[in-house]
Amino acid sequence: MRDKPRAHGTSRPTRGAGPVSAAGRVSVSGITDVLSVGSARLPQVSEIPTTTGAEPLRTRLATLRGPDAQPKPLDARALAALAANPGCRRRALLDGAGVDKSALAEALGSPSGFGQSQFAFIRGNAFEARVKGDGGAELLRLAHQKLGGPEPTPATSRVPELTAVGPEGRAARTELALGEAEAGAWTLLDHPMVALDVAGSSAFLEPDAVVVHPDGRWAVVEIKSFPMIDGSADAAKVGAAARQAAVYVLALERIAARIDPAPEVGHGILLVCPKDFSNLPTASLVDIRKQRAVTRRQLARLTRIEDIASALAPGTTFALDQPAEQLTHAVESVPATYAPECLAACELAFHCRDRAREQGAVTALGRAIRGELGELATVDAVLTAARGEAGDPDDPAVAALRRAAALRAEALASAPPAPRMEEAAVRTEEAAGVREAGAACR
Ligand code: SF4
Repeated sequence: MRDKPRAHGTSRPTRGAGPVSAAGRVSVSGITDVLSVGSARLPQVSEIPTTTGAEPLRTRLATLRGPDAQPKPLDARALAALAANPGCRRRALLDGAGVDKSALAEALGSPSGFGQSQFAFIRGNAFEARVKGDGGAELLRLAHQKLGGPEPTPATSRVPELTAVGPEGRAARTELALGEAEAGAWTLLDHPMVALDVAGSSAFLEPDAVVVHPDGRWAVVEIKSFPMIDGSADAAKVGAAARQAAVYVLALERIAARIDPAPEVGHGILLVCPKDFSNLPTASLVDIRKQRAVTRRQLARLTRIEDIASALAPGTTFALDQPAEQLTHAVESVPATYAPECLAACELAFHCRDRAREQGAVTALGRAIRGELGELATVDAVLTAARGEAGDPDDPAVAALRRAAALRAEALASAPPAPRMEEAAVRTEEAAGVREAGAACR
């Protein structure tokens, strides 16, 4: 069922063959500096024309990462987390520069207990291999079950070869395969590569699979190893999978926009999980319209990495081999926006939480409280405003705090006095003595 790689310009009828299949210029055997896909051009990391002063951004980011550090590629999970906290410049820069945040947290003395366990990783891979086994027949069967349409058979199923050199080559190969998907056939793209612009830099993402329906619709497939029991799964895990899939959908929409006529990118993703407590796969269609809208808005709000990098002192680096004090100073020089949600989404959470608490930042108490307090960013500022020692009385947050402080004082004044510590201790001793005497009599 797996298709052999086909030469470009084949006479086989293809869907949306216009700009993509007409390309014939896509280099998949070697990376070229400019990838042309028909009339469209796929943005390349090497093409990012941004600079910070006289220094190209790529060089600046390499300096930030450290001379010997390999860049850590951004994945959809990281992008979804980034989109969940778009105000955090620290994370945007570290992710954009490809810094290994786990290693950085360890070097800062606040290691995170973050990430997937080795056991879960192996289990997930084994399950995915099972779902995609037999040339993807099982996965296409599940797709047919949830998306409808003609039943997939070996004659009407395609699994194009997507192998290419480097992420740019794989992304170009994926785009070509999507454009060449045959009308009337099921096409399964196993581990395609898609690109997305994030804060002025390109991120390459790898969904588990993308299915092209015979009617031309594209559907993202997420394969997870958490169980689906009686047709429903852990809401938090499904939500995380939906946010991750939303990033893939946004990247696919970019590709679809370059094809004429533009195919529909489904807003329902196919979530495949083990059924009940078995290892048998089952699928569910998850609507990700909300997550897609939120992620699109949040990613658009990210400050450009170039602007964040240019605000740093020359020579700033996050290289792990420098003294801890220097490294801490470098990290602290990039503003962060800590929130308790970071604990479940970012490797630097313990470090940032400690700093937020040291500074008395109200963000450490949660975004809802931070939002209520307006201009008052620290616990000290809140207390002085409540006591009437500072703050604008016309500010609704200050007025509400003073009212709350007055109510508290009023309640305390009318309450019976609490026993003093010494009196309470004496009473406790007396009660213990009575109990002991009683026990002796018995
Ligand atoms: S833990 Fe720190 S670096 Fe990570 S997102 Fe939160 S504030 Fe930003």
